[in-house]
Amino acid sequence: MRKILKGFIFVVIFSFIFTYMFSVRVEAQSQSEEEQILETMHSISSHTLFGYVKELASEKYKGRLTGTEGFNMAAEWVISNFKRWGLQPAGNKGSYLQAFKNPYTLILDGDEAYLHIPLKRGDEILKHYILEKDFIPGSTSDTGEVTAEVIYVGYGITAPELGYDDYKGVNVKGKIVMMEREVPVSTKNEEEFKKWRPYSFHQYKVKNAKAHGAAGMLYIYHITNPNCVFIKDFILTYINKSIVEDLFKGLKYKHKEVVERIKKRKKTFSFSTGKIMTIKNRTEHHPEGVAYNVLGMIEGTDPVLKNEVVVVSAHLDHVGMDPYLVPGANDNASGDAVVLGVAEALSKSPIKPRRTVVFALFGAEEQGVKGSEYFVKSPPDALKGKKIVACFNSDGVGRGNKIFAIAGKNYPELFKKIKNANDKYVHRVINANFFNNIARPRLDAAHFMWAGIPTLSFSTYGIPLGFDNYHKSSDKPEYITPEIMEDLAQILYLTLLEM
Ligand SMILES: [Zn+2]
Repeated sequence: MRKILKGFIFVVIFSFIFTYMFSVRVEAQSQSEEEQILETMHSISSHTLFGYVKELASEKYKGRLTGTEGFNMAAEWVISNFKRWGLQPAGNKGSYLQAFKNPYTLILDGDEAYLHIPLKRGDEILKHYILEKDFIPGSTSDTGEVTAEVIYVGYGITAPELGYDDYKGVNVKGKIVMMEREVPVSTKNEEEFKKWRPYSFHQYKVKNAKAHGAAGMLYIYHITNPNCVFIKDFILTYINKSIVEDLFKGLKYKHKEVVERIKKRKKTFSFSTGKIMTIKNRTEHHPEGVAYNVLGMIEGTDPVLKNEVVVVSAHLDHVGMDPYLVPGANDNASGDAVVLGVAEALSKSPIKPRRTVVFALFGAEEQGVKGSEYFVKSPPDALKGKKIVACFNSDGVGRGNKIFAIAGKNYPELFKKIKNANDKYVHRVINANFFNNIARPRLDAAHFMWAGIPTLSFSTYGIPLGFDNYHKSSDKPEYITPEIMEDLAQILYLTLLEM
């Protein structure tokens, strides 16, 4: 008994001394580790990141529409940086790329939209609208022109199972249809929205208009937007309020009243505006288009944990030319700059994460969130046998003084790590929401979440206030606030090491 007690005391004392020695050692080491980490963190500079934004938003990449030479050049530029920093290829066949099929359409000069105003004496005057200010050529329109009566068709939906058909009672054969985007129910009403969801896609609306014999379409969605489908002999034009108002002139109801009425009653209300318009687009369709995701990685230091992957992502592509340059400085050269900033810091960092980090710059986000979908559903060769455990996506992170983490409340554990890094070293305002992710995908984060991967998608907001340059030629570097990108990149670098 005494022997056992003696042994026990010995073990206790020994383990106490050992623990003490060990903890002192760890503390001394982590002190210097922390210094090293902070030094690397401070090497991430707003000046460098702003330089990346200016590079990607510049004329030579022509708005980075996926499939075009401009996009491919941007991808090459990213790869040259990955190589410079010693990142390993994380794509297919030992490359930094993952390719997939992706048709695209170029918008050329010579696009027009005008209203025919009949005069009493029989002839007419033409009211010409201004490109970008009043209208934008549909980014997937066929080339050609159509002059026809304009028929208002509400949301452009034919849903027999919902007892709803915007085309009931109107003949649109050879005509131009005008319609709203989305559906007459809100995503807040989750159960109800799910039934309507298939009809919320732009692709569906265009196909349904064509199926009813329409020759052209005025879409009340005034942005450059290639997230749609090319249909032969179908002319698509995106319009602003100015044109909508002209088309509703002299009618019994105002446009706003009609929309409210449809939403409230869930009953269609379609009619001829009695106006005649001409829409003319000059485009070039490329069915043979190929898209790329650009992927680089830093392998984890832990022999087991390295099979777990944390993805740091942003979409590289934008909407191209409309036919003016749409530079996409905030959308999403800012996100790319953050990813590059983190990649550079982590590659130079003397301390590396135990898990593998993949830096993913997706293609074809603007054409229907295709790149991230392809990446999640068919992982590249380099990731075979590995498991993606988290994703930090950045989309529109170049303007404002506050950070927003979409889905932060879906994944509180992940968000806590971001908050901790911020609270300790960076001190920005960071807010988060719960993201139900039931609408059509509009962020790369959507596909990661649907695959069950904890994901945060960052955007920025606040002062200086945002203004309407979303998918417009005014989305230029001069409106970027570089400091917010630096802070987000620093938070991500710290969080990756913390994980
Ligand atoms: Zn966009």
